[in-house]
Amino acid sequence: MTEKIDIVEMFLRDKLKEKEILRILEVPETHLNLYADKFGGRQILEKRYVVVRPKSASDVAKIFEVVKNFDYSVIPVGGATGALVSGGILPTKNKVVFIDTRSMNKILRFDPDSQTVTVQAGVKIAKLQAFLKVRGYWTPILPGSFRQATIGGAVCTNAISPFSTKYGRATSIVTALQIVFPNGKITEIGNKTSFDNSIMLKDFFLSSEGRLGILTEVTLKVYPFPESRKVAMFGFKNINSAISTIIELRNFGIQPETLMILEKERVIYEALQNVSLNSELNYAIFIFVSYSGSKGFVASLLNHTISLVKKRKGVKLPDKIAKNYWKNLTKGYALPVMRDVSNEELRVANLRYNSVRIGIPLHKLPIFLSYERKIRAKLDMLVYVGTSSYILLPQADSLCVSGCLIDDSSKIAVEQFKTWERKLLQKAKRIGGSLCAATGLGSMYNEFAVTEFGDSLESFNLIKRTLDPWKILK
Ligand SMILES: Cc1cc2nc3c(=O)[nH]c(=O)nc-3n(C[C@H](O)[C@H](O)[C@H](O)COP(=O)(O)OP(=O)(O)OC[C@H]3O[C@@H](n4cnc5c(N)ncnc54)[C@H](O)[C@@H]3O)c2cc1C
Repeated sequence: MTEKIDIVEMFLRDKLKEKEILRILEVPETHLNLYADKFGGRQILEKRYVVVRPKSASDVAKIFEVVKNFDYSVIPVGGATGALVSGGILPTKNKVVFIDTRSMNKILRFDPDSQTVTVQAGVKIAKLQAFLKVRGYWTPILPGSFRQATIGGAVCTNAISPFSTKYGRATSIVTALQIVFPNGKITEIGNKTSFDNSIMLKDFFLSSEGRLGILTEVTLKVYPFPESRKVAMFGFKNINSAISTIIELRNFGIQPETLMILEKERVIYEALQNVSLNSELNYAIFIFVSYSGSKGFVASLLNHTISLVKKRKGVKLPDKIAKNYWKNLTKGYALPVMRDVSNEELRVANLRYNSVRIGIPLHKLPIFLSYERKIRAKLDMLVYVGTSSYILLPQADSLCVSGCLIDDSSKIAVEQFKTWERKLLQKAKRIGGSLCAATGLGSMYNEFAVTEFGDSLESFNLIKRTLDPWKILK
């Protein structure tokens, strides 16, 4: 029996090459295996869809030209690493054309004078970092998913990276974009500097998660590799001492490239491979820092930090622990490595990881963490693996990533996770925070859109209706 060919697919075949049209969306196996599926995303992803792999902006324009004549939606997808995390790319109906950007994978221009590189949006972050490395450069965009995630996916979710403390997020690193709008118009915004006064139009698209247009090219800042980089981890008896140390560090004028606050569970979970447990773990909360620059300057920054830590009765942990943590943070796919539970044991127990990602002012972190403990006490099927907080300086804002392992084949466990997540998101909003502050407000978080955006949702919808009157994009 010949397989029924979708009408949209027939028209697309007319415009694009045969091999650019597929029926299966490729999602990295690692994510399907490691991530707990809270919303039935795996089943949705197994269905057959029309998947198109354009090679250029003009191919994307041709796709819009076809799709706008039918009752179909278009969903852009990069590395598909957001799928089970935020649900950014999950369709809500069957009539969907996925624009899989991974064939737009060319590095177009490297310009050391302006310290920029221009790439097609489907270039994987790992590929770009490797290209830059042999030229003595790097870029601070490095989410944990960087081996599979694309530059386009990372910038339009405004991804967080360990280097965001100093270099900020995509909005501070990206200088120009090429976008294809649903009417087929190919538009360039920005230039090669971080000065952009075009009513900050670029930033508007940098967190749009594919709702307003498809990014086809991205220009971003690159930096020469530093002469020296040093990491360190410090233990504190309580969260307030850790926060005071950070504020003092900031007021002193010290700017780490990476600064994180970690709960003890996170240290056990991510930094203790091949290190024996010892008295350092009597501490409740940990600060992790990384400094880069000239050798002498980095050494003096570290010495200043140690003296500020001592003032608050903190201790420096053995270097091996800090180095383990750094390796996990920057090598990709750190999860889920636990000291006492091997990956194999996790698989047998059917435990998978998922997290809640919330932006809150640093001073509110103690309230948030104690609330988290209170609500979790009633949820016995969650294996808590701790909260790690990325700190932005000088703003003193924190992005909390609170993680759990759950058996996602158990309805009760999944419901408990959702209850935990919902309560944390509501609490975050009450203390001035932002929901799903990294990875975007994907389709799994639709119910929170009104809470997050309030009245501004109406303005956004107005803009969306103007750019996408056919309602093609999600
Ligand atoms: C193991 C793991 C670790 C992670 N670590 C981090 C982390 O450290 N920091 C972080 O912020 N996130 C993290 N994430 C979440 C996610 O990987 C990131 O948001 C990532 O940057 C998404 O890139 P992607 O190419 O996979 O995008 P996708 O998942 O394919 O897409 C994400 C969203 O962007 C849209 N989109 C993709 N490409 C385009 C385009 N060219 N034009 C318009 N819209 C587009 C999609 O429609 C979707 O809404 C992690 C995920 C995993 C699985």
